[in-house]
Amino acid sequence: MVRDKSMEMRFVYADNAATTRISDAAFNAMLPYLKEKFGNASSVYGLGRESKNALLLAREKAAKAIGANVHEILFTSGGTEADNLAIRGCALLGEKLGKKHIVTSAIEHSAVLDSCRALEKEGFEVTVVHVNPEGFISADAICKAIKPDTLLVSIMTANNEIGTIQPIAEIGKLCRESGILFHTDAVQAVGNMKIDVKEMNIDLMSVSGHKIHAPKGVGCLYCRKGIELPKLIHGGHQERNKRAGTENVAFIAAFGQAIEEAVLGIEKNSPYIKSLRDRLYDKISDIPDMNVNGSMENRLPGNLNLSFGGIEGESLILSLDMHGICVSSGAACASGSLEASHVLRAIGLDDERARGSVRITLNEENSFDDVDYIAFKLRETVERLRKLNPNWNFR
Ligand SMILES: *Cc1c(COP(=O)(O)O)cnc(C)c1O
Repeated sequence: MVRDKSMEMRFVYADNAATTRISDAAFNAMLPYLKEKFGNASSVYGLGRESKNALLLAREKAAKAIGANVHEILFTSGGTEADNLAIRGCALLGEKLGKKHIVTSAIEHSAVLDSCRALEKEGFEVTVVHVNPEGFISADAICKAIKPDTLLVSIMTANNEIGTIQPIAEIGKLCRESGILFHTDAVQAVGNMKIDVKEMNIDLMSVSGHKIHAPKGVGCLYCRKGIELPKLIHGGHQERNKRAGTENVAFIAAFGQAIEEAVLGIEKNSPYIKSLRDRLYDKISDIPDMNVNGSMENRLPGNLNLSFGGIEGESLILSLDMHGICVSSGAACASGSLEASHVLRAIGLDDERARGSVRITLNEENSFDDVDYIAFKLRETVERLRKLNPNWNFR
């Protein structure tokens, strides 16, 4: 008998929407600034200037990658901080003009939703636009939500759970024509699809390093020239006096390298990643009582979000982990209980179905053998867990 070697235990990382491995180029770009080139970028002597130059180079790379100018890039500690600075900053700008209304969507990352909720407690008004069952927000829905005192629209470019890509250029155009600031959280989109902030009429955009092979704890906010965001972190004059604190030169150098690489790699990687995802789906699509969450059109190439009847996502994740597979579930452990994902609820899943979901996010580091292994173990595990569930009988 021939043994199928590809089904032997292997380690497969398929949770790239949660974080990614640092690339060799990003890692190498960072090293000198951790050791020999340790100068403070604000110091005027040579050692300091080397750090300052590293910041400038990274800023140029980040700007070029998204079609921005160097002065429009503000380095942050990551996507969360960029979202916070953008939303609170715009709210304070709007307030000065007597505007108190913000439009966002039901499927935003918690960094956006919770920033909006916090502002609501401070007297701002927030409209949360619904998505359709496919996971899309239309420019028309945004148009209907806009009021005379709307100061900001914040809609993510691509969703972190279901991978759906929103009509950002259209929403951007609408906002520009209406004189409303437009922010997009593009943390999941950068490196997966081409983004040009000018062509897409984006005023502010959040990017995170660790989703694109840079280290955790670095990212940037693109802020269009002319938008004078108020300073929210007080101290020194770093980042054009917008965000105080000694710059994380090493991580920023890695971020610059990573965003350049990620964007240059889109054309080559995207079709390959999509072929991995589609192969995986083909191999498991006949599993009974299983659905894909979100549309298969206009979706990030590596994203597959599935829900299974009669399964707890959390048990599935833990079983797959024992086979060396890293994926994540549609539930977050909030204070000891499993809370169904707000994104899956927003596209119409009930609690039980949302809790029976898994998110698989592939990237260019995965192989065909990886997806064949995932398909095999996923099928085996779903069958086993269902046999253990006395309440499950496929209708
Ligand atoms: C990961 C993520 C964030 C948060 O970025 P951090 O750098 O981890 O703070 C924000 N938005 C989206 C869509 C994300 O996927």
